[in-house]
Amino acid sequence: MAGIFLAVDLGGTKIVSCVAVDGRVSARVKVKTEVDAGPMGIVRQIADCCGRALAARGLPWDAVSAVGVAVPGLVEHATGTVLEAPNLGWSSFKARAKLEAVLGRPVVLENDVNAGLVGEWAYGALRPFRTACASGDCVPLAAVFVGTGVGGALMVDGRLVTGASGIAGELGHMKVLAGGPRCSCGSRGCLEALASRSAIEKAVGKRRLTSGRIKELLERKGKKRLKGAVSRAAYYLGIGVSNVVNIFNPRAVVLGGGFMEALGKRLLPDVIESAREHSFRRAFADCRILLSELGDDAVPLGAACLAGARSRPEAERAGRPLGKALAAGERS
Ligand SMILES: [Zn+2]
Repeated sequence: MAGIFLAVDLGGTKIVSCVAVDGRVSARVKVKTEVDAGPMGIVRQIADCCGRALAARGLPWDAVSAVGVAVPGLVEHATGTVLEAPNLGWSSFKARAKLEAVLGRPVVLENDVNAGLVGEWAYGALRPFRTACASGDCVPLAAVFVGTGVGGALMVDGRLVTGASGIAGELGHMKVLAGGPRCSCGSRGCLEALASRSAIEKAVGKRRLTSGRIKELLERKGKKRLKGAVSRAAYYLGIGVSNVVNIFNPRAVVLGGGFMEALGKRLLPDVIESAREHSFRRAFADCRILLSELGDDAVPLGAACLAGARSRPEAERAGRPLGKALAAGERS
């Protein structure tokens, strides 16, 4: 799967376009997302951002085999439609067709945490599990990415589990506290409402608390409310992980996203302890709980990897899930 792929990590606040070569990011351009410009305005921003990333490497558009675009929302793969992406203001937007028309290259669309899980699996913390996959063992893996919200993803034997409607793996909206705080999805007591950066902002009554700032404040004396909110987040993340462990019996759960990148080392022991307390003993013993190794690059590298795997001819792909292709030593 040698080739040059463009990867786009599209978020509600920023768009990052990367040129990915052999599983590494070799050029990166970041711009602020102009949500007010509407869906086609964002599509044009993506094209501009990709063009600048290519120019930084002195590459023409013709050199690009495919573009992987990771979006913060629900993706219907068959039609290339983003069903819902509240942070972008997108609803039932046929993003793949619009992007292909503007970029002039094949586009692979994926949910951002799904892409992040693929990135960690192909090049990061979950890489060791590719060997088990290649030898035919059952290899369920999960990801929980914590930032402004909480995203999730599931994979079995190198295939993403998308569900009947592309919604599988929305782990941020599993209920961990009946009647708990109101969530951005409208429900109550979701993991996201208790263990995300926005949950912490709400708990301490402050806005625009970046993960880096939270880390800094935790080092100071006092700050009892903040410290309480952060340990509550770790406790509920552990409960969330235990639900994944009991339902899905994964070999590993990888914890990523900006919040975990800043605070993961500090929180991990508490998350693990809470997960242990709430899981079946055997299922917990068979599950590694790991921090992301790729940080910000997990999503774009996963998107590039998916672009590589899915842009090959159908006949070549038949019977070879992404997992098998990568486990056999191929790289995008
Ligand atoms: Zn929710």
